[in-house]
Amino acid sequence: MVQKTAIKHYQMYIGGEFVDPSNSEYIESTNPATGEIWAYIPKGGKEDVDRAFKAARQCYESEEWSSLSPTKRGKLLRKLAEALEKNAEHLARTETQDNGKLYKEMLGQMMIIPSWYEYYAGLADKVEGTVIPLDRQSVFNYTLREPLGVVACITAWNSPLLIATFKMAAALAAGNTIVLKPSEFTSASSLEFARIFNEVGFPPGTLNVVTGYGHSVGDIISKHSLANKVTFTGGPETGRKVAVNAASNLTGVTLELGGKSPNIVFADANLDAAEAGVISGIFAASGQTCIAGSRLFVERSIADEFIDSLVRRAKEIRLGNPMSPDTQMGPAATPAQLMKIEKYVNIATDEGARVLAGGERPCDPELSKGLFYLPTILGNVRNSMRIAQEEVFGPVLSVMTFDTEEEVVKLANDSEFGLAAGIWTNDLNRSHRMARALEAGTVWVNTYRTSAPGSPFGGYKNSGLGREMGIDAIYDFMQTKSVLVELSDEIRDPFTVRTLN
Ligand code: NAD
Repeated sequence: MVQKTAIKHYQMYIGGEFVDPSNSEYIESTNPATGEIWAYIPKGGKEDVDRAFKAARQCYESEEWSSLSPTKRGKLLRKLAEALEKNAEHLARTETQDNGKLYKEMLGQMMIIPSWYEYYAGLADKVEGTVIPLDRQSVFNYTLREPLGVVACITAWNSPLLIATFKMAAALAAGNTIVLKPSEFTSASSLEFARIFNEVGFPPGTLNVVTGYGHSVGDIISKHSLANKVTFTGGPETGRKVAVNAASNLTGVTLELGGKSPNIVFADANLDAAEAGVISGIFAASGQTCIAGSRLFVERSIADEFIDSLVRRAKEIRLGNPMSPDTQMGPAATPAQLMKIEKYVNIATDEGARVLAGGERPCDPELSKGLFYLPTILGNVRNSMRIAQEEVFGPVLSVMTFDTEEEVVKLANDSEFGLAAGIWTNDLNRSHRMARALEAGTVWVNTYRTSAPGSPFGGYKNSGLGREMGIDAIYDFMQTKSVLVELSDEIRDPFTVRTLN
């Protein structure tokens, strides 16, 4: 069903050159829709990581990069945005082959990625310091915002280039250089990105892409002494390891982690819009998104009708070749991910949940070679059950009911996670009350799964640390220097401290 192509051999990108891994070892990359190996990805090691950091540091200190004005950095980022736009289809095809997500979903992502580079290109020359008003007027105190140095970016497999872009656009605009490590399961698009980046005119070493396994390359990167910041997207367990590694060098971290997001439907909502929002929240991208609305809370008075309709719709979702425009849901990205989905559905039914839709692999022989799982809806779920508390990262929706606003706020917030939440209501006052009460980094009202470069994104509680996107994100890749200049000729008593206020 997916066209056979020759197996591709990728190289890493270090210091402006495409290079083989020092150990000459490779990882097979498998197409999750067909089970076929389609690419070999370099399996990097310590030597490669060291080379990448040295190249990034050398570039950071070079005249070519350090004296490049913010305006010129912005121009390069705009050029990169244009080049990415031209290559959107190729990049989307690469990601679909690698992670099995729908081509139309990946193309949509590739078409919006340039706007992140444009947004931060526009910010690059608008970073300002401040003048501090002091009582002692002979002292002139001002601040400078300076880049951090080398930023290590470690990314997850589900939307590799979009996730990397959230990090790299702001980090580059701030004047840093980069070592990027994509997931071992979906490294190809980051290496294709490197080819495009290489043509744009950044000095060699501005971006370095090292591929390989998380437990080796990722571990070495997150504790590397030349990393001035580690920005990570992935699971909470790995996030903790990365934070501990970075702490060994007192390196700052940003962590974008998992979620168990509530999608809350009140009886007064536009129920057709709510149904589409619930479906999009959990079944688009086969539920393999950090913001998946995996816990559905429906107001009891409309629950039976709403859930019946949702179940009917879930059963009609078309699984198949992710390259086909008719397909609505692709496969899981890896065998391990498929097994995790099956494990959690079993745990849920053992704990008393009832399968209302799906709950198994499809029996269609056309799909037998791919890692497909049916869109699954579970009823009879309590919020304390593991299926409602732990992230599945697959097309599995837990359905619960509620009677009052207070009750649903408590249930929604009863989670270790706090990445996102959806509210469906036509009551304006309630929508704002709920938005304040929910412990989540993003709250959507009468919409779900939308984002923009200017809108801050990140998690409460175990969903993360720090924010990406928006104006403030550029400052997360900078440090502030305070400069104090004595303008009088006064000679000080060297043995007293002088306060300036
Ligand atoms: P993961 O934690 O297994 O891997 C993420 C990255 O970390 C990969 O590049 C991996 O190679 C690397 N890694 C693994 N072990 C490491 C170690 N010991 N040291 C350093 N790096 C290591 O996550 P995943 O399975 O790739 O992605 C799924 C998870 O990512 C889900 O929990 C999902 O919610 C989360 N996610 C979060 C966001 C967000 O923005 N909040 C976005 C997408 C995905």
